[in-house]
Amino acid sequence: MLDSLFRPQKVAVIGASTKELSIGNRVIKNLIDFGFKGEVYPINPKADEVRGLKAYKSILDCPENIDVVHMVIPAKFVPQAVEDCGQKGVKNIIINSGGFSETGSEGEAIEEDFLARAKKYGIRVFGPNCQGIINSDPTIRAYCNFTFTKPDPGFISIVALSGGVAEVIHQGFSAMGVGTRIYASNGNACDVTIPEIIRYLGDDEGTRVIVTYVEGLRDPQNFLEVTQAVAAKKPVLAMKAGRTMEGAKAAASHTGGLAKEDIATEIIFKKAGVLTFMDEGELIQAAAAFATQPIPKGNRVGIITNTGGPAVIATDVLVGAGLTLPPLSEKTEAFLKEKLHPAASVNNPVDVLATAPAEHYRACMDAMMEDENFDCVFVNFVTPFFVDNESIAREIVAVSNQQKNPIVCNLMTDRRQWTEVVKILQDGGVPCFSLPGEAARAMTALFRYRGIIDREIGAVKTFADVDKTKGQEIIGNAKAAGRSNIGASQVYEILSGYKIPVAEWRIVSSTAEAEKAAAEIGYPVVVKADAASIVHKSDMGGVAVNLQSADDVRNTVQLMEKNLSAEDLRFFVQKYLPGGLELIMGAKAEEGLGHIIMFGLGGIYVEIMKDVVFNLTPVTSTEAKEMLASIRGVSLLRGVRGQKGVDQARLIEIIQRLSQLVSDLPDIQEMDLNPLMAFEDSVYVVDARISIKS
Ligand code: ADP
Ligand code: MG
Repeated sequence: MLDSLFRPQKVAVIGASTKELSIGNRVIKNLIDFGFKGEVYPINPKADEVRGLKAYKSILDCPENIDVVHMVIPAKFVPQAVEDCGQKGVKNIIINSGGFSETGSEGEAIEEDFLARAKKYGIRVFGPNCQGIINSDPTIRAYCNFTFTKPDPGFISIVALSGGVAEVIHQGFSAMGVGTRIYASNGNACDVTIPEIIRYLGDDEGTRVIVTYVEGLRDPQNFLEVTQAVAAKKPVLAMKAGRTMEGAKAAASHTGGLAKEDIATEIIFKKAGVLTFMDEGELIQAAAAFATQPIPKGNRVGIITNTGGPAVIATDVLVGAGLTLPPLSEKTEAFLKEKLHPAASVNNPVDVLATAPAEHYRACMDAMMEDENFDCVFVNFVTPFFVDNESIAREIVAVSNQQKNPIVCNLMTDRRQWTEVVKILQDGGVPCFSLPGEAARAMTALFRYRGIIDREIGAVKTFADVDKTKGQEIIGNAKAAGRSNIGASQVYEILSGYKIPVAEWRIVSSTAEAEKAAAEIGYPVVVKADAASIVHKSDMGGVAVNLQSADDVRNTVQLMEKNLSAEDLRFFVQKYLPGGLELIMGAKAEEGLGHIIMFGLGGIYVEIMKDVVFNLTPVTSTEAKEMLASIRGVSLLRGVRGQKGVDQARLIEIIQRLSQLVSDLPDIQEMDLNPLMAFEDSVYVVDARISIKS
C-alpha cells in the first residue's frame, strides 16, 4: 500500500523554486542527480522551467497519475494545495514545510484541516515538517528528500521521525562505505506512521535489516504488534533516546516510580524482539554486519589474527556477551599446522603471524567455516607493509561472499594509505571496523538476533477458576464513590478471587475482635493498622509482627489506637509467616498498552538492590519464567549455600494470575504486592495495595 510512496514513477514539487539555495530547488536537484527513473514536474506559477525541467503553473496542469507531490510552501497554503491534489487524483503528499502541530495550536489546526481534506480524497500524507524518503533501488532511484547524503544501493532501511538522527545514522553508513535501501524520515507523522513503514519494510525484499530511532511511541500497542511480526522475519534495530534504566529505577522504590515510561519502550522493544542499542555508533556498526552477513547458528566464534593484543580485546567483548571460543577441531588443527608458518599459534584465536600471506588467511577461514566447532569467524587484520594486503582483503571478500557463516573484520590500518585494501573490503560487503571492540560488538549483535529468532515466547495462560465479577464489583463501587484507593480487605478479596494466596487474615475494629481473630488464625500473628490515610504502615508504627499471645494482641491494638488517630482506623490480624524470602510484584497501567508487570526482590532489598524486572501484560508462561531468571538475585530463588530455594513454579503462576487480574480489571492504575513471602513449597502475599484510575 505504501508502494506508490516508496516506489514513485511521477513526482511533482509544489513550491519548486529557481533559487539554488532553497528546498524547492534542492528536491528537484536531488531527484535529477540521484538518477530518478521517473518523471519530475516542478510547479511554479512564474517560471517556465526549474533546473532545466518544464515547470507547470499548477498541479492541475500536470500530467495525470502523480504518485508523490512534495509541498514546499508556507503552512497556510497547504490545505488548498491538498484540495487541488485531491482534484488531480494524487496518491501521496510529502510535506517538507513546517509550521504545523510542532509549532502550537494554530499550526495544529492547519494540520487537522489538510489531513481531513487528504482523507476525503484517500491521499496519504508523509510528514509534515519532514525530510521525505529515499529509495536507492536501481529501478527507482527516488531521492524525494532535501538532504545531501547520496547512498549507494544497499540492504539497510532507516525509519525515524527525527530527521536529524535519521540523517546521522545515514551518514554513519555512508562513512563506512555501506549502502542503504530505503530511507524514511517522517517528521510530525500525522498520517503515515512508523509502524506502518516498518511493516512495509518488513515486506520489502530488498531490505535485510531495519534501523529505527524513537523518542517515544505514539501507539505502543500497534508498534509492538507490527515489530513483533517483522522482527521474526528480519532484524529490527532500534535506539531510543531519553532513557536510562538506572535513572528511572533510582527514582522511587514502588512500581509507579520504578516503571517509568522509558522502561515501557524498553519492554516493548524486548517483547517485540527488537534489538536495542544504547549507542548510535554501535547500532550503525551492527546494522552494517546484518546488511551482508547471515545469522550465526550459535555462539561459537573462531578468531583469526595476525597480531596478539587486539584479539584479546575482541575476546573479552565476545565472551562477555555470551559467545564462546571453542578449540579447533583436530582436523582443523592438523590442517593448519601444515598450512601456516611453523611459529604460528594454532589455537583459537589462531595467530597466523604478521608475515602470513593471503593463502594462510584463506586456509584458516576455509577451515573455520568448515569446522563444526564454529558458528562465526572474526578476522583481526593489521596491514603490514611486507605482505600483499590487497590479496588478503580479496580472500576475505571471497569467503564472505560464500555466505556460509557470518564473518566480520577488524581492519587495523592507516585508511589514507591503504585505500585499496579498504575499498576491496567495503565494496566486497565485508563488515569492516576500525577497532576490535567495535567489530566484536557487531558480531555480538548478530548472535543476539539468533536468540530472538530462536526464542520461545510461550502461551498466555487463562485461568478459568478466577472470580472476575467480584473484582469488577469492588472496583466499580470504589470508582462510583470517587475513591482512588481500595481498602485493604477488599484488595485481599480481589486477590483471593484470583487464587493469589494471601496469608490468612481478619479485619477487626476492637481489641475483643482482634483477640478472637488471633485465636482463630492461630498464634503467632501480626497486627496491622488499616485506615485510608495510612499508606506505609510500618513507617507509622502500624505493623507489629510475631505476637505470641492474646495479651500481645490486646496491648498492640491499644497502643496503635492511642498513637494513630484516624477515624476509620481498623486492624488487620494476619498469620505471622517468618523466615520467608521477601519478594515484590506489581502492576502499573501504561497509556495505550495494558499494564507493566514487575517482579523482584522485596522488603528491604527493593530499596537497596532495586533488583526488579518488568514485562508487559499479557505475560506468558515463558516470560514469567524469564522474569524470575533475570533478576540479579536469582540464586536466592534457587537456593544458596545449603539454603533451600523457593517455590518458583508458584511464583510463575502468580505472575500470570496477576497479569490476568489487571487485564480483567483495566481500571487498576497501580498495584503492589509487597512483600510476598516465599517459602520452599508455598508463597503468600502479606501486604497489598491497589489504586484505581481517576
Ligand atoms: P507496609 O509496607 O505498609 O509498611 P507491611 O504489611 O508490608 O507494611 O509490613 C512491613 C514488613 O513487615 C514486611 O515487609 C514484612 O517484613 C513484615 N511483615 C508484614 N506482615 C508479615 C507477616 N504476615 N508475616 C511475616 N512478616 C510480615
Ligand atoms: Mg509492604
